Amino acid sequence: MDRKVALVTGAGRGIGREIALTLAGDGFYVVANYAHSSREAEELVEEICRTGGGAEAVCFDVADFAAVESAAADIIKRLGHVDVLVNNAGITRDGLLMAMKEEDFDAVIGTNLKGAFNTMRHFSRYMLKNRGGKIINLSSISGIVGNPGQANYSASKAGVIGLTKSAAKELGGKGITVNAVAPGFVETEMTAALPDRVKEELLSRIPLKRGGTVADIAGVVSFLASGKADYITGQVIEVNGGM
Ligand code: NAP
Repeated sequence: MDRKVALVTGAGRGIGREIALTLAGDGFYVVANYAHSSREAEELVEEICRTGGGAEAVCFDVADFAAVESAAADIIKRLGHVDVLVNNAGITRDGLLMAMKEEDFDAVIGTNLKGAFNTMRHFSRYMLKNRGGKIINLSSISGIVGNPGQANYSASKAGVIGLTKSAAKELGGKGITVNAVAPGFVETEMTAALPDRVKEELLSRIPLKRGGTVADIAGVVSFLASGKADYITGQVIEVNGGM
């Protein structure tokens, strides 16, 4: 593969889809991961290819250590390298701490935090061999300031920040940068389920007086994936309208 390769997890929908489209526009060959949204991922690949880019859809569950390991081996065997890894896949299972089910805590940590660990663990090996790469992890404002009803989600996204900062220190000497992007409130399927009064309350706390768009987030990821960000590592870029 002559082009640089970007793997985006959870690329079928929402923010991940826009990140995939933007990186394809930047010239990357995009590996669009999905777990359930196969039709959406195939449509995304068609859209990228129709507009002159290159992409493929790859199914694996980021929470599954062995599945990520075999997907990484297969992708590297076929394409030779992955230059940019975007850990975007994420879920919520909201509920108050005192009533939170164990499986809802485990599922959120498993996908959001262990999922990012799994891909970093298996793809950084190949980045080390290539002596370069960029890893971009999606955190959240909830992981920085907390959010009632989201103890599991906030813990996972705070964990992503610790993972990012530690990996940046380990991998910097090998030419690999690791950064996090922490969105505020962005309208996607993830936030669509929130009651209107919660959305209004969130919007009232944003100095820029609007929610974020998927393009607001993808633009920052595109910057971090580019050569313009070569000297940035271990950082958390908050993209939240001042929230
Ligand atoms: P979304 O619309 O619900 O999309 C979530 C994506 O994650 C889907 O593409 C889904 O793919 C994928 N995914 C979930 N579990 C997966 C798994 N086990 N393996 C692989 N892929 C999996 O959410 P979003 O709003 O775009 O959020 C994207 C990221 O931004 C998440 O990490 C989220 O926490 C973060 N974020 C969002 C907001 C916001 O306001 N929207 C704010 C802060 C941070 P499948 O359908 O194929 O399962």
